[in-house]
Amino acid sequence: MGQVTGNSPSTYRAYLRGAVDRIPQLQGLSDDQRLALKTVSAVLPFKVNNYVVEELINWDDIPNDPIYQLTFPQEGMLATDDFRRVRDLIHSEASPGQLAVAVEEIRRGLNPHPGGQLELNVPRLDGEPVAGLQHKYRETVLFFPSHGQTCHAYCTYCFRWAQFVGSKELKFASSDVTTLVRYLAEHPEVTDVLITGGDPMTMKTRVLRRYLEPLLEVETLTSIRLGTKSVAWWPQRFLEGEEADDLMRLFEQVQARGKHLALMAHYSHPRELSTQVAEQALRRISSSGAVVRCQAPLIRGVNDSAEVWAELWKRQVRLGAVPYYMFVERDTGPKEYFKVPLARALDLFQEAYGTISGLARTVRGPTMSATPGKVQVVGSTEVAGERLFVLKVLQARDPRWINEILFARYDAEAAWLTELRPALGSDEFFAQTPRQAAPRASRPSARVALPLAEVLGS
Ligand code: SF4
Repeated sequence: MGQVTGNSPSTYRAYLRGAVDRIPQLQGLSDDQRLALKTVSAVLPFKVNNYVVEELINWDDIPNDPIYQLTFPQEGMLATDDFRRVRDLIHSEASPGQLAVAVEEIRRGLNPHPGGQLELNVPRLDGEPVAGLQHKYRETVLFFPSHGQTCHAYCTYCFRWAQFVGSKELKFASSDVTTLVRYLAEHPEVTDVLITGGDPMTMKTRVLRRYLEPLLEVETLTSIRLGTKSVAWWPQRFLEGEEADDLMRLFEQVQARGKHLALMAHYSHPRELSTQVAEQALRRISSSGAVVRCQAPLIRGVNDSAEVWAELWKRQVRLGAVPYYMFVERDTGPKEYFKVPLARALDLFQEAYGTISGLARTVRGPTMSATPGKVQVVGSTEVAGERLFVLKVLQARDPRWINEILFARYDAEAAWLTELRPALGSDEFFAQTPRQAAPRASRPSARVALPLAEVLGS
């Protein structure tokens, strides 16, 4: 493993919850540790593969190894009561029905669809909700292909964990690309489609082609984005065998039709770019003309270090990729285990940003993908004796909010937008600049308020 083997593909082997006892590297765990792993993975999704286990994890450093933390569930990822409840049921060999009831209750308490995805983002066509589609920002729709709702391995912090476990109504998915095309015809303002999941790169190329080709006929569409972590979890996808060759042809086909193809690559740690296959995959994607933009959340125990981020961005630039976002861990799933306060995230971002060249400063962060939109913590400062955070709305459900600057009271512990409060004696997050959507002459001079209720619903 780790070597490119020409046209003979490596064998991909997934390890799911039931295979925990068969992972040789786990044999050193105590019975309690193994029970903890089985307990948490009964609630949250768990999957690793042979490449992650053999090439990316440093087994001499578990449980602290960042890639181990990134893939193997830990006891602290569930609240103590929830953990004990499930552990005791497993230990006492409770019936599958009893376990399922407990697990479902716990999952529903973990905010499975943050950011108002179910209530606010699902668009309508002919008066009916469109399955497998989210339309939050004017120019971009998200499409969740049914065949791509899994990943080559699961991240323990996954903000889309509800896509992989639990009841059907917690999931977004559609195989109906015709409806997507109809929706785009009715919404010419949409220029970008993000194919996401899960990971669309888990699909066979011929299946991915079935989703992409109809989009090439949509004249108003300028960009197709593919959200993926396969570059980190299974880079062989882009290198080996006829599948990979066909994928490169598909990438070229998209661009030959005048569309921009962007791989929204999810890299959490520089180790994911340390193997030969990982480097070669990135270079091959770039050679197809697709642009790789890199993003990941800041996660405690995985990448909460300025050196780690600086190294990650440097490697990305060296390999021709574009650093894009450092996100803040979202308010879902095991958030309490992974969260990093905004103040620390800002310090860490600024320290890392100060050590990289201008080419890597395409990255934006720390950024919260919240109910009103993407809100960046730009800095902290003092005004009239009050310490505050300066926030900027990078993307917004309501386009009038884009580029607005907000002030929030400085709070060393706050880890999400809902935990912040307006500063300077205000009871609302006021915007400081004119509306962006209106032509300059007709812009109102009054400030545009970002309603506090919107923020608190984040
Ligand atoms: S790659 Fe993305 S969707 Fe898949 S498990 Fe990781 S965070 Fe979740």
